[in-house]
Amino acid sequence: MNDIVSQQRTFFYTHKTKAIKFRLEQLNKLELLLKSNEDQLNQAIYEDFKKSEFDTYVTELALLYQDIKEAKRNVRKWAKIKRVGTNMLNFPARSYIIPEPLGVCLVIGAWNYPYQLTLAPVIAAITAGNTVVIKPSEMSPKTSALMTRLINNTFDANYLKVVEGGIPETTELLKNKFDKIFFTGSPQVGKIIYQAAAKNLTPVTLELGGKSPAIITADSNLKMTVKRMVWAKFINAGQTCIAPDYVLVHKSVENKLLELLKLEIEKESFSIENGNYTQIINDRNLDRLSNLFSSDNVFVGGNIDAFNRTIEPTVLQNVKFSDDVMKEEIFGPILPVISYQNIEEVITYVNDNPKPLSCYIFTNSNQIKKKILNEISFGGGAVNDAVMHIANSKLPFGGVGNSGIGSYHGEAGFKSFSHYKSILDKSNLMELSLKYFPHSKGKLSWIQRFMSF
Ligand code: NAD
Repeated sequence: MNDIVSQQRTFFYTHKTKAIKFRLEQLNKLELLLKSNEDQLNQAIYEDFKKSEFDTYVTELALLYQDIKEAKRNVRKWAKIKRVGTNMLNFPARSYIIPEPLGVCLVIGAWNYPYQLTLAPVIAAITAGNTVVIKPSEMSPKTSALMTRLINNTFDANYLKVVEGGIPETTELLKNKFDKIFFTGSPQVGKIIYQAAAKNLTPVTLELGGKSPAIITADSNLKMTVKRMVWAKFINAGQTCIAPDYVLVHKSVENKLLELLKLEIEKESFSIENGNYTQIINDRNLDRLSNLFSSDNVFVGGNIDAFNRTIEPTVLQNVKFSDDVMKEEIFGPILPVISYQNIEEVITYVNDNPKPLSCYIFTNSNQIKKKILNEISFGGGAVNDAVMHIANSKLPFGGVGNSGIGSYHGEAGFKSFSHYKSILDKSNLMELSLKYFPHSKGKLSWIQRFMSF
């Protein structure tokens, strides 16, 4: 591991990765690699947790292709030196900002969208001109092995190198000095990564998780709300960091919402055979999820098939904030519904808990929308939709507080792998002698005048 990092650092200091032509070539290479191996990518993810070709395209590959297209289109603009104004005190000079790559980066991926979550940060790192060591999640072993084989056979290891492994290998990797660590995973492991990075003052982006609420007001368009929310919650069998974790609904429409949820779940016919559902990633998670609810609360679903590692789309009613299901991020196909009387209760509850990665507001009231957007802090989200904000690369994607540090996608991704070097470029034609000894009242008054411009 030590060798990989030091060889990448040596390669980085050849400065080859900084040329725009080089970055474009690598982006094209990665695009071609993915496009020409789609069958294998579909096969590996199906073997890991039975994700279909349709969902793999829509929720992983399409986003990566979009990222690559956007990066190729904009890399020149993003990497361009930016002129800024110069203040009177520094006259005569030019001032500008040089975006520069950080150097040798470590990207640690999560398993739930293994291609998208591992490779989208890599695309951003390439676009910004870095080298990357990539550590996919060991919890999806087939996709991890495939990404390793494809990337390590295609790219120079001094530039991009995948290292497979779990906790011991990641711990070993983290002993090295990186110039940037980009981590996607749980807040618990995020803290371990942050501590390891602190030893070298390495900057981090931490894409973490949390309990993302969906807030439904009495005047919301319930039919549309349910359609969009059911898709967002149960795609990938709820194993989505930005899935609505739980619902807070106004008491007056609670029963209607529950009925509509039931109808929509039936209509969507979630199943592996239909290609719109997946397995739970492993037995440990299946056990964890099974212990989060009891049959007393089940309104829809609740059946567990341990052999096939699936849990039916499940809606829970009469849930209390003190129940186990409200104590941790669910990360599975279980949707607790809790009613409220007053929007203030909702705001107080969410603000009393760790800041969520996402928040969804289903309402027709402009006033409530503005109030929630103003009074609740969360990573990002949507009004009258859920999850889809991730598909707009103009929106920086990331958490806040317990749900993460920093953001990426589009230009935000480029920025998170760049340093912005500020330069004052002074002319030798003349020099104002105001700052030099001997000082005088006259000089001080000129400086004060300059400062007022
Ligand atoms: P995880 O934190 O268990 O694992 C993530 C990565 O960290 C894996 O590559 C793993 O090998 C590594 N890792 C695990 N334990 C480690 C340790 N002790 N030391 C060093 N490395 C270690 O997370 P997960 O189970 O893969 O994913 C679920 C969590 O990730 C959820 O909280 C979810 O919300 C979050 N998540 C966030 C995003 C996002 O974009 N913000 C996306 C997906 C998942």
